Amino acid sequence: MRRTSLPTHADIEAAARRIDGYAHRTPVMTSRSVDENLGARVFFKCENLQRAGAFKFRGAFNALSNLEPEVRAKGVVAFSSGNHAQAVALAASLLGIDATIVMPSDAPKSKMAATRAYGGRVVVYDRYLDDREDIARRLSEERGSSIIPPYDHPDVIAGQGTAAAELIEQVGPLDGLFVPLGGGGLLSGSALAAKALSPGCRVIGVEPEAGNDGQQSFRQGSIVRIDVPKTIADGAQTQALGRHTFDIIRRDVSEILTASDAELVDCMRFFFTRMKIVVEPTGCLGFAAARAQGRQLAGRRIGVIVSGGNIDDERMIDLLGAR
Ligand SMILES: *Cc1c(COP(=O)(O)O)cnc(C)c1O
Repeated sequence: MRRTSLPTHADIEAAARRIDGYAHRTPVMTSRSVDENLGARVFFKCENLQRAGAFKFRGAFNALSNLEPEVRAKGVVAFSSGNHAQAVALAASLLGIDATIVMPSDAPKSKMAATRAYGGRVVVYDRYLDDREDIARRLSEERGSSIIPPYDHPDVIAGQGTAAAELIEQVGPLDGLFVPLGGGGLLSGSALAAKALSPGCRVIGVEPEAGNDGQQSFRQGSIVRIDVPKTIADGAQTQALGRHTFDIIRRDVSEILTASDAELVDCMRFFFTRMKIVVEPTGCLGFAAARAQGRQLAGRRIGVIVSGGNIDDERMIDLLGAR
């Protein structure tokens, strides 16, 4: 039998069992005014309320808990200035694994502090002088520890897919599902889950307008790499999709749309003032695109993954204050 390295829905089911009792089963919220404006039923899956503030805990915990004991003993390494770092640090500490996180020296102090508070050892590098992948590779070679990538790994993809699987369990079949897109771990996992649990559902990836490498790759049929995009959606500043994530996305995703920074700020304000939840700019991508579709969604049952809520108070005030 030919073995493919792409994860399947069975891997998402296995991931759901592994994270059970560790990850939150996050709530689904609805808004009457959103439903009235779009003429649709919209279900927001609130991963901003996930542990460590984003869905990334799902993939990190699944990947770490699937390591063999002798591999675990040698620890793990991750490079990230964002939500993946905190997710790996927290998952590792819950599982008693030693974690080293490689972060740029100019990463927000709050993120470094959170990563340390979760028990991660932070190794700092200079964004302009050093190559973080080199540093991570060196650390992993010195200690034999495993590198946990932020998206292009079958166990990470399967873990991220548990959010959409849960959503469909919580609300029933969907006609459409809007998912934020960076490197594609969340989108490919969501697509695997939706195809299995709600086969008629159109899965739509949404990335920042300034960095539409995923949309270009999708249209062109091969991975397109771009410069680091300038956008407030810092969780989606990736330069290219991964090999695994792209293969799943091209097969199971219907469409990739984009949202502008101004639309993201509008959505943050809506979430804050109307729904009373804090959502980071990247977490607004799905809703921004759904909202822009307007009455095209009329009569449909729509899922929106609200992917994260990690934002500093000053940054939040700054973004919402600028009208
Ligand atoms: C990482 C992240 C994304 C993008 O996820 P990918 O799996 O890289 O596509 C979206 N939203 C938030 C909040 C994130 O932290």
